[in-house]
Amino acid sequence: MFQSLSDRLSGVFDKLTKRGALTESDVAEAMREVRRSLIEADVALDVVRDFTDRVRAKAIGQEVLRSVTPGHMVVKIVNDELIRTLGSEAAPIDLHASPPVAILMAGLQGSGKTTTTAKIAWRLTNRDKKKVLMASLDTRRPAAQEQLRVLGEQTGVATLPIVAGQGPLQIAKRAMEAARLGGYDVVILDTAGRTTLDEELMTEVAEVRDATQPHEILLVLDSLTGQDAVNTAKAFDSRLGITGTVLTRADGDGRGGAALSMRAVTGKPIKLLGTGEKWDALEDFDPERVAGRILG
Ligand code: GDP
Repeated sequence: MFQSLSDRLSGVFDKLTKRGALTESDVAEAMREVRRSLIEADVALDVVRDFTDRVRAKAIGQEVLRSVTPGHMVVKIVNDELIRTLGSEAAPIDLHASPPVAILMAGLQGSGKTTTTAKIAWRLTNRDKKKVLMASLDTRRPAAQEQLRVLGEQTGVATLPIVAGQGPLQIAKRAMEAARLGGYDVVILDTAGRTTLDEELMTEVAEVRDATQPHEILLVLDSLTGQDAVNTAKAFDSRLGITGTVLTRADGDGRGGAALSMRAVTGKPIKLLGTGEKWDALEDFDPERVAGRILG
């Protein structure tokens, strides 16, 4: 996802680190190129401005310019600021609540919500040895509940039996009750998506939230949609109070702008990255590792 940004930045920093001494204007010129690279990567303008201001303030100091390896010091400053922009620390899914712990999955249609639901369930079941129940609350798309049932069969994760004619709220309550009675540790609620943000969608998800008191509200976003993903996240967060985001299609050729802007714009951590269509194609989002990837 960060390939072209990474290539551009390595061009900028190769020049910088090859030189011995640096002047203020060398650093300023490098910062202009960093700025252009970030804008080209579709990073939100406010985030770019804040990022370059911070790097500049730290880099154009006598301490850096007089050091033996000023170029490397600038790269280190950029690395630290990237980590900060990405959220500083990994933010794993939090299950510290009394079971059954509800995870509410929200997002637009096609963002990868149902696939991510199955991936999380698969991981919690197989890696963390949790007893997991999945339930689809999508009564709009006729095949949605069936899709999750099939995914449950394929991943070996239990799904809530489908009862025709029930609405999302009824299904959510039934899922919580089934999870309680069945001794489940976690129940993952896959809500309906829409092609666009609308009030009906928000109301529906908010009602489910109020009825189930989820410990995590994860918003699934397609990283290929760049700034649209960031705007979607802002809208969902202000209405629902999300606990974190999941960026899917990180295996695609997105420019990285969504990942780099998301934390700063929403204030909520990116928790996971979807990196493919398979169950195990799910990575914890670790700012330090991601910054390392960007800087090569
Ligand atoms: P939903 O409408 O949000 O529930 O979206 P789905 O979960 O049905 O996913 C839509 C499509 O995106 C499916 O073909 C998935 O296999 C695919 N998909 C989901 N996550 C990823 C990902 O991280 N990488 C790739 N390459 N494809 C993904």
